[in-house]
Amino acid sequence: FRGRKLITHIIPFENRRQILVTHDVTESERTDMMRRDFVANASHELRTPLTVVLGFLEIAAAEQLDETTRQAHLKLMMDQAYRMQHLIEDMLTLSRLESIDHPVRAERVDIGNLLDKVRRDALALSAGKHEIVLEMDGGDVMGSTDELYSAFGNLAANAVRYTPAGGTVSLKWEDTAAGVRFTVRDTGIGISPEHISRLTERFYRVDKSRSRETQGTGLGLAIVKHVLLRHNGTLSISSEPGKGSTFTVNLPKSLSAAPHPAPAPAAA
Ligand code: ADP
Repeated sequence: FRGRKLITHIIPFENRRQILVTHDVTESERTDMMRRDFVANASHELRTPLTVVLGFLEIAAAEQLDETTRQAHLKLMMDQAYRMQHLIEDMLTLSRLESIDHPVRAERVDIGNLLDKVRRDALALSAGKHEIVLEMDGGDVMGSTDELYSAFGNLAANAVRYTPAGGTVSLKWEDTAAGVRFTVRDTGIGISPEHISRLTERFYRVDKSRSRETQGTGLGLAIVKHVLLRHNGTLSISSEPGKGSTFTVNLPKSLSAAPHPAPAPAAA
């Protein structure tokens, strides 16, 4: 029991005997702590853009602004409002993914169509600054089209966001002996080894300001992790700082092909 916190209750029993009941509260305390952290992080993330919007509104209420300044302020407020909207959408997606009474609605996923959408989204995000390559060499898979689109889309978007202009993002879909594999490889900034194991935690970022600059919510990889848990899939990450990163997803062909995974830790 080393490292665990146990609470023992003494319950009176017949003939003045007593029963000792011991609960292991380590896990529930950990979950409570993670929940508190999540609320604190989410509040902070929402407060920052809201403060900017309120600041501009106060100026607009107190001063007569010329048209150019007014337009510039409106644009800045809109950006911040979109940032809040994006964050709230990601938080709702995560909470939906975690809800136990909402299992995956498995269907045959039209992977060609899905990955084409992912590629087009990545192209739009890149705005012509990167080369984006899609290689299709595998069959369809069973799962939730919406959830897989969200997971693959997040990985492709990250590859674009963390790769300087002129770089390449390669998306590859292939069959494996056990199922299918989706690989996202970029020639971007890379990630130091000490960060890799924490990347799927909610709000964990290697560089907060870079993540915000590129419209990050800090929840993308937590969403990826949860989608994969629900699909009996795995994510592996390899990276070399300054050279680029590779995010590899392995999935079984059909959801029933693998045993159901252990429940997701509450943190990520
Ligand atoms: P964010 O919205 O901040 O990108 P994510 O959960 O998607 O949040 O990613 C968490 C962190 O992982 C990012 O802030 C970034 O530091 C790092 N990261 C994710 N993908 C990449 C990538 N392809 N290259 C370099 N760093 C990455």
